[in-house]
Amino acid sequence: MTSKQVFDAIVIGVGGMGSATVCQLAGRGLRVLGLERFRIPHELGSSHGITRIIRLAFHEGPSYVPLGLRAYELWRELEQRSGEQVLHVTGSVHAGAPGAVAFENTLRACEEQDVPHEVLTSAELAARFPGYGLPPGMTAVVQPQGGFLTPERCVEAHVSVARACGAEVHAEERVLDWEAFSGGVRVRTEAGVYEAGSLVLTAGAWAGRLVPELAEVAVPERQVMAWFEPDDPALFAPSRFPVFIVTMDGDEYYGFPEFGVPGLKLGKFDDTGIAADPDALDRTWRTHDEEMLRDFLRRCFPRAAGRLLRMAVCMFTNSPDRHFIVGTHPVWPQVSFAAGFSGHGFKFCSVIGEVMADLAERGETRHDISLFAPTRFTS
Ligand SMILES: Cc1cc2nc3c(=O)[nH]c(=O)nc-3n(C[C@H](O)[C@H](O)[C@H](O)COP(=O)(O)OP(=O)(O)OC[C@H]3O[C@@H](n4cnc5c(N)ncnc54)[C@H](O)[C@@H]3O)c2cc1C
Repeated sequence: MTSKQVFDAIVIGVGGMGSATVCQLAGRGLRVLGLERFRIPHELGSSHGITRIIRLAFHEGPSYVPLGLRAYELWRELEQRSGEQVLHVTGSVHAGAPGAVAFENTLRACEEQDVPHEVLTSAELAARFPGYGLPPGMTAVVQPQGGFLTPERCVEAHVSVARACGAEVHAEERVLDWEAFSGGVRVRTEAGVYEAGSLVLTAGAWAGRLVPELAEVAVPERQVMAWFEPDDPALFAPSRFPVFIVTMDGDEYYGFPEFGVPGLKLGKFDDTGIAADPDALDRTWRTHDEEMLRDFLRRCFPRAAGRLLRMAVCMFTNSPDRHFIVGTHPVWPQVSFAAGFSGHGFKFCSVIGEVMADLAERGETRHDISLFAPTRFTS
């Protein structure tokens, strides 16, 4: 085992949230160490699959909008600092039957927070974006700022900017355990022992393994994503096909234009409620995975319901109320964690990085994170 090394802050888990946190801390001039058990980036956690939706107004509630605005600013800043585009604006469509809760909440968030938007019928949507073929009677909130991020590239860009600012980031070094003591923390990995003034835990689906208090409230769940062959790929190019979330018969589906690899990408907010073991996840493609997605495609995007071209398995980490869990440890104020992103966290990585750097540096943040208080499940 190597000798003890001392840092201002250690970040455990360099995925979506951890890479942004390391980048923020290093940019502030702190001596920071990021520890990641796999390669950076990798396909075994929650931040892979080429694209993630970003939009400003959310059915999760209007209080996410200010964080979303700051997230956009920070993504643009990352692009400037890394010299790489990670955010692609295509517009976003949130559609459902009038009265569908998710659709109505998105509309309310747009109205309350002055988010630019239009409301279109399914016929109007198809006329403007011919890849869309939603059934009659559906209505859509269209946000011009919506689009997608490229998650693997985001993680890499955050890490390369962090390294350029002096951060040490170790890939393929699993953390075994950590302990806090008055004024600091000690982290033990497969390769060494490190000490720091503060600790940030951004371990995604493994959060409960490192913070027992999170085990019952940050629960991993298997999710699938698939790419289907359109009959006319030009209709599904980013310039002609906005990202979407569609509520259909109480279920929510989401999808993307063709980007990076062939095919329209599609997934379903599965919410099977079945907890998964992140170290023993079923990563094989099941017939029912394809049937579930193909049935929806036929009904809403019939021109993209061709051959299955590719699939991937990923994990949500769900909290009981589907809001994030962000804050300081109940006993140790120098330890903070961010977990439970419940399938809608990626767009916020950039701003969560800022929040976590604030918590690591001074134990508080100017951002309103009261909705995410870890104590809400215990009090
Ligand atoms: C299929 C799918 C689609 C999604 N779609 C969207 C979307 O369109 N828009 C959106 O905003 N969000 C979306 N999300 C959610 C979003 O991707 C996640 O909220 C986000 O990626 C979570 O980031 P994270 O940093 O918490 O987890 P991760 O990126 O998985 O990072 C956690 C890291 O911790 C590491 N780690 C764990 N234990 C240890 C240890 N002991 N030692 C060292 N390292 C460790 C892991 O290896 C991992 O790299 C989607 C998620 C999935 C699965």
